[in-house]
Amino acid sequence: MKIMPNRLDRGFYMYQEEFEKKAIETLRSGWYVLGREVRSFEEEFAQYTGARYCVGLASGLDALWIAFRILGIGAGDEVIVQGNTYIASVMGITINGATPVFVEPDAWHTIDVSKIEEKITNRTKAILIVHLYGQASDMAPVQKLAQTYHLKLVEDCAQSHGACYQGQMTGTFGDIGCFSFYPSKNLGAFGDAGAILTNDPRIAEDVRIFRNYGSEKRYYNKVVGANSRLDELQAGLLRVRLKHMHALLEERQRICGRYLKELCNDAIQLPQVRKQTTHAWHQFVLRCPRRDALMQYLDELEIGSIIHYPIPPHLSEAYAYLGLKQGDLPITEQYAKEVLSIPLYCGMTEEEQSCVIDAINQFQ
Ligand SMILES: *Cc1c(COP(=O)(O)O)cnc(C)c1O
Repeated sequence: MKIMPNRLDRGFYMYQEEFEKKAIETLRSGWYVLGREVRSFEEEFAQYTGARYCVGLASGLDALWIAFRILGIGAGDEVIVQGNTYIASVMGITINGATPVFVEPDAWHTIDVSKIEEKITNRTKAILIVHLYGQASDMAPVQKLAQTYHLKLVEDCAQSHGACYQGQMTGTFGDIGCFSFYPSKNLGAFGDAGAILTNDPRIAEDVRIFRNYGSEKRYYNKVVGANSRLDELQAGLLRVRLKHMHALLEERQRICGRYLKELCNDAIQLPQVRKQTTHAWHQFVLRCPRRDALMQYLDELEIGSIIHYPIPPHLSEAYAYLGLKQGDLPITEQYAKEVLSIPLYCGMTEEEQSCVIDAINQFQ
């Protein structure tokens, strides 16, 4: 059986009628950017997460760089972030001219909180927490550090829609929570989309103005902003999916529960779930010292898998200017050599799950 790492079409057909109805309704409305659907989505997503404000944006990367811009973080400032993240987290920092300071990950692939303090200097202005793969980071000590050192706290929740730490949703712990609704994310649109969450009315207002050329009133521009508007079609389709978010998360949890119970092979290490967190299972990430052999073996059985991510940002060509080299972040670099994400998507059949499990259990 051929199994792909992800099947976005399945997620569409699950609620096909509702999506199509909303799409046609929006097309016929004659209003396509920043309107009723966007406002409703912002209200509903804020309510879902427990944040006071949500502001829709054009992408997850925009959410990140606009967050740092609004917080006044730029050239000469340092932002602490884990080494093993998607490069967009880092670009959110560097687009503003700030410098990323990398910290090694813990056993859950999130930032190793015990290694943050040693990286704080008098230039440090913020911590960017990434809830990678849908696993919530250890937020209590992070919040404490941010308070003690007067640092801004920003969360990259592009992979953690629905993930909780001690019953509280990710994206609501700091000054700003940044979300992506790229189609493959847990809450995915049918194109690019993003948002920020905040409890601060001034931040919400600043982002609202910034996303639309810095204009509060038409043709009256307060600041030099960006065009990072969320469109009505994406917002409407996101509203449809958000209504089913509980069921969608449960399905991911059910599939990963099965993986955790039934996968059994000494050659691989299963992901762990941090205590007092609800994992949103954006990815199910194995570690295997012979990862490339495992990947090729699965590929020969027509089972797709993906490496998230093969090149850590500090070794990426894009960040050569930071002057970091191989060996600077040994744990991050080891993870990059060992991680493998196996097929996981809503609408995955039990037969497909069994096929993945059997294949991995027979890997030698
Ligand atoms: C997807 C992703 C982003 C970027 O989101 P886009 O909507 O693609 O711009 C940022 N950070 C992480 C961790 C992501 O997974």
